[in-house]
Amino acid sequence: MLNKTTIEPIGVLSSPFKQKFSIPRQPRLAPAARGIIKLSDGYNSPDMVRDLDTFSHLWLVFGFHENSDKGWQPLVRPPRLGGNKKTGVLATRSTFRPNGLGLSAVKFERVIIKDNMASIEVSGIDLLDRTPIYDIKPYISYSDVIDAECGFAPDAPQLKTVNFSELTASFISQNDVPNEFEALIEQILAQDPRPAYKQQKADDKVYRVELYNFDVHWQVIDDSILVTNIHPI
Ligand code: SAM
Repeated sequence: MLNKTTIEPIGVLSSPFKQKFSIPRQPRLAPAARGIIKLSDGYNSPDMVRDLDTFSHLWLVFGFHENSDKGWQPLVRPPRLGGNKKTGVLATRSTFRPNGLGLSAVKFERVIIKDNMASIEVSGIDLLDRTPIYDIKPYISYSDVIDAECGFAPDAPQLKTVNFSELTASFISQNDVPNEFEALIEQILAQDPRPAYKQQKADDKVYRVELYNFDVHWQVIDDSILVTNIHPI
C-alpha cells in the first residue's frame, strides 16, 4: 500500500469563466482567456516567483474542484468521440478522475507584486474561476515538446465563424468591458461549446455563457454562431 499524501493549494485562480459550459476543452485554444493566480499566505513572497519572468509558458497543476464530490468511473465518454463511445479514464482528459488533478500549459504574462505579495497573470487558460492551484513549473521546450501520437484527438477542434449582432457590437464598443472581451467571446464560441449530440441536429436554442460579469447570449445559425445579446449580470 502506497503512502497517502496531503497537498494544499498554493494559490487560487481568478478566471473570466464563471461556469464550466463554454470553457475551452484544452489550454491555449483561447489566447484571450486571462487569469490571475493569487498566491496564498506562506507561498506568496516575491522570492517564490523570482526569475519566473524568464519563461514564456508555465505548467499549472490544479484541482477540478467543481467536480470534487462527484466521483469518477474507469470508463468515460469523451466529447471528441461524439459523447457516446466509452474509453478508459486514463486515456482521456476527463475532469472526473482519481485525485481530480489537472495539468495545463499556459502562457506567462507577468508577475504582480503588491504589498510584498506576489500574484501571477497567465493567459490561454481553460480553467474555472476559483480553481485551486497546487503547483506551478516552467515549461521547458527541449523536453516538453514532443511529436506525439494523439489517439482519438489527433487534430485541434474545427472552428466555426462567430458573428456579432449590431446590438452586441455596439454594446462592446460603448461600454467599459474587459480588455480583449470581444476576442475572448469569439475564441470560445468558435469552438462550439455545445454538447456533441447537439452539434449533429438543427438547433434553435438560445445559449448563454457567463464571462467576467457579463451574460452573453448566442445561437447557431446556418452553422455559424451569432452573438445575440450581452448584458451585465
Ligand atoms: N488540460 C487540462 C487537463 O487535462 O488537465 C484540462 C482538460 S479538461 C477537459 C478542461 C475542462 O475542464 C474545461 O473545459 C472545463 O469544463 C473543466 N474545468 C476547468 N476548470 C475546472 C474546475 N476547477 N473544476 C471542474 N472542471 C473544470
